[in-house]
Amino acid sequence: MILFTAPSGAGKTTIVRHLLKTFDELAFSVSATTRSRRPKEIEGRDYYFMSVDEFKSRRRRRKFAEWMEVYEDQYYGTLKSEIKRISDAGQIVIFDIDVKGARKLKQLYGDNCFSIFVKPPSFEILVQRLKDRNTEDDASLKKRIRRMKREMKYAPYFDYHLLNDKLDECLHQAEEIVGSFIKTGNIPTSL
Ligand code: ADP
Ligand code: 5GP
Repeated sequence: MILFTAPSGAGKTTIVRHLLKTFDELAFSVSATTRSRRPKEIEGRDYYFMSVDEFKSRRRRRKFAEWMEVYEDQYYGTLKSEIKRISDAGQIVIFDIDVKGARKLKQLYGDNCFSIFVKPPSFEILVQRLKDRNTEDDASLKKRIRRMKREMKYAPYFDYHLLNDKLDECLHQAEEIVGSFIKTGNIPTSL
């Protein structure tokens, strides 16, 4: 499996979407979330959207491989059934998850899991990208910015630090390292 993690706005979704188009071997792990759907998002492709009650019921029934309350009252989690569905189809799972959930999956799966931390060029650029994306209201933007500094501190727990400054260079490097992992099963490191 391959996981991408980073603070909100660093570019995980952009990179993961590009890799899914490039490599047929990969399949996206669709997470469950209680946050509301953004206009361009599709149920079952981007997330499984559900109520807090439904999420908590699945959590009680131990349906999640990992879950996090990423923002207050906004839960996100990887369903065990999702990992099984993709593995049974003989594909490699690719995740886009927050730093804490990512650390948990890396601890669970060790060398079977290539973990990549996407680094923004600076804190100011990260904030600007999130604002330009135009998906968050003021309150949500503030929540995300408050969390970013803490999230940056998780970088040392992951195998590879991928700088996302110029997008085309970043996508090229992402292709190289993911291609190498798919081909050899060995984890590239940048540290
Ligand atoms: P994440 O999934 O980590 O929250 P996104 O992939 O949604 O981040 O990217 C956040 C915003 O920044 C999006 O609007 C995206 O188009 C833009 N973006 C991503 N990478 C770059 C880059 N290298 N240069 C400029 N804008 C970028
Ligand atoms: P967003 O609301 O921007 O889609 O995602 C917010 C954060 O939640 C991002 O850091 C994203 O990677 C993370 N996230 C998405 N799915 C999961 C998941 O299944 N588990 C965890 N722990 N985090 C997730």
